This record gives sequence, C-alpha cells and structure tokens, in this order.
Amino acid sequence: MGKLNVTVLRYLTKEDFRVLTAIEMGMKNHELVPGPLAAAIANLKSGGVHKLLKELCKHKLLAYERGKKYDGYRLTNTGYDYLALKSLTLRGSVSSFGNQIGIGKESNIYVVADEEGTPICLKLHRLGRTCFRNVKAKRDYHGRRHKASWLYLSRISATREFAYMSALYDRGFPVPKPIDFNRHCVLMDLVNGWPMTQVHELLDAPQVYDDLMNLIVRLGNSGVIHGDFNEFNLMVTDAGKPILIDFPQMMSTSHENAEFFFERDVNCVREMFRRKFGYESEDYPKFSDLVREDDLDAEVHCTGYGFTKEMEQDLLEEYGMVEQAEEQNEGEELEEEEEPPTLVTAAAKEIDECRRQVENEVIYSEAKPTQKSDDAVRRYIE
Ligand code: ADP
Ligand code: MG
Repeated sequence: MGKLNVTVLRYLTKEDFRVLTAIEMGMKNHELVPGPLAAAIANLKSGGVHKLLKELCKHKLLAYERGKKYDGYRLTNTGYDYLALKSLTLRGSVSSFGNQIGIGKESNIYVVADEEGTPICLKLHRLGRTCFRNVKAKRDYHGRRHKASWLYLSRISATREFAYMSALYDRGFPVPKPIDFNRHCVLMDLVNGWPMTQVHELLDAPQVYDDLMNLIVRLGNSGVIHGDFNEFNLMVTDAGKPILIDFPQMMSTSHENAEFFFERDVNCVREMFRRKFGYESEDYPKFSDLVREDDLDAEVHCTGYGFTKEMEQDLLEEYGMVEQAEEQNEGEELEEEEEPPTLVTAAAKEIDECRRQVENEVIYSEAKPTQKSDDAVRRYIE
C-alpha cells in the first residue's frame, strides 16, 4: 500500500482538463467515446483534441480501447481519481495527500489533510470492475442493454454513503463525521480507534454486545438497516465504544428483503462475540420488535444529492444484496454491444447536454485561484 496511483499531473492544462471531462460526460452514455464525439463534446477542433487525447493516454488518465464494434477512449481509475481530487482540492476540502491505510471490499482508504493540516479519511469507491459479479443488464435510454458502468456504480456508492453518513451523524449515531464528497470519493473524519478485526479482547464484552445490538435496533427504529454489520465495518475506541463505518449498502426497513438483512446483521454480532470473545447471550433483537420512530430512510432519498430508487436498486444488486436474499432470475439476456456512436447517431441533444456539463466543470475549475490546489495535486504526485 502506498500513495494514490496518480502520475504526471503537473503538466495538465486547461485543455487537458476539458478533454478529460468530455470523456467523463461521454461515458454517461457510451462505454467507449470515439475521438470525434470527444471533440464535439469538448467543443474543440478535432485535430487538436487528437493530440490531447494521445497525451492523456500516455499519462494513463485515459485508455484507448478496441471494442467489438468500434474503438474509443475511456477514463481510467487514475483519470477519474484525478477529476474528483481536483474538485475536492479546488473547494478546499483537501490540501495534501498521504498514505493508504486500508483496503476494503469495494474501496481504497487514504489519509489526507484538510487546509488546517488536520488528517482526515478519504475513501475511493471502486465498483463494477469485477467480472464474476452477475449484474443485471440495464436498458439505457437508447433501448440498448448494457451493464451498469463502474463510473456510475462508484459514484452512486459514494453518494449513498455520504447521504446516509450525514443523516446518521446528524442524529448522533456513532459514525465518522462526513466532510465532503465528489464523484466516487468521500471525505470523513479519521476514526480514532481500532478496526474490530484487530481487537481480540474487550474489557467489557457484554457491554459492547449490548451497545451493538442497541445500535442495530436504534437504526431499525429510524427506518434503516446497515446490511453489512460485521467486524470489518466496526471500529472500537480506546474507551471501548463502537463506531460504525461503511454505508453504501444501507437500506430501508421497508425494503422487501429488510427482515433477512436485519437478522443477518444481528447474527453477525452474535457469531462474532461467540467466536472472538467466547460470549453468548439469549438476548438479541428481532425484526418484529422494531418500532418506527423516524424516517431516516425517506430523508436520505430527499437530500437532493440526486439519487433515485432505481439507482438504489442498481447498487444493491451490485453489492449482491438482491441475490443473497432470493434466487436470481434465470435466463438473463446476453449483453449486446452498442453500435458505434457517431456524430450522426449521437443525438444533438446528448452532445449539447454533455457540452453544458463540461462548460460547468471548466468554469468551476477556473473560478477560484487554483495555485494552492494545483500545488496540492502536484505535491501529491511527487
Ligand atoms: P469497504 O466498503 O471497501 O469495505 P470500509 O469503509 O469498510 O470500505 O473501509 C475499509 C477499511 O478502512 C476499514 O475496515 C477500516 O479499517 C478503514 N477505515 C475506513 N474508514 C475509516 C475512517 N473513517 N477512519 C479510520 N479508518 C477507516
Ligand atoms: Mg467495509
């Protein structure tokens, strides 16, 4: 584990940024963005864009790939990291970058620092890259079937995490304080404690067991289930207080599989305490004990962060939450590769919309003096 894998960012110009953003916007509708479409979205001359695209590939921010039906460019992890980190530094949420401290199932975790030099936690969500997962193909607005892209999944994963963490933190739940998010990145307080996986002794195991069960019930009474309540997602302070992390897979107690996941969370705690601390209790909560006291689940959907029920479903499927609770439908249709998006077939409306988004990003990136933030990006790649 080391520094973030981002290289040679210091020579990135305004035009580079514009082209990189154009590829990001083009990827909302296409897996690969052909050069001419990139040029149209970036609103730059085709010849100039070609050179910029080549340079960005050389620096591994973009990759040029051959599809079955057509060739084009896609953002790499590094390119996407760059766009997110640039936004976060521009608005002053991050000012320097440190080392990796954790690797989760679906993320990489780093220590970074804010403008006061306080260490904070950066979580980069990385979803949808694994091919063993059986993600249901979706129909896009052209009616083509395709798998939800890693860009989209990573972004809604981070968005959901930030939304849930904010709602939980506001209600005084023991979770890290959320600071900011952009694209697939979430910034939060660094927890001053130990991952439960590394804890082999507790001063008062029955007390911590009760705290955890009470936490599950309090979440449930607020209308939510964590859904992955295990020792990888629990930290313990020196004072023996549990802190809960990792929220993208959270769901409403009104979800059709809510009872299954509630019981699984409860059983995780029972099993962990039996195995790690030799502690067993007949006292544990049931789904039917829950009493609705709050609508945290509904509130998260109204936060204006722009995620819908459909996005929630896509993400829960990606996290395998759907198959685990019920048999997967059989006879899925095969993925069809899209026809090459040419300037003629890509609707003028689509290009207009992408262009507008690129302009917004460019205006934003130039709005504030960028010396400080560019320095931060530079420092972090050196
Ligand atoms: P994933 O979704 O990939 O499982 P997690 O959010 O569970 O990611 O984080 C992975 C690991 O990173 C955790 O097990 C923990 O050790 C560490 N970690 C995550 N968030 C924090 C934080 N706010 N403070 C300190 N360590 C953290
Ligand atoms: Mg985790």
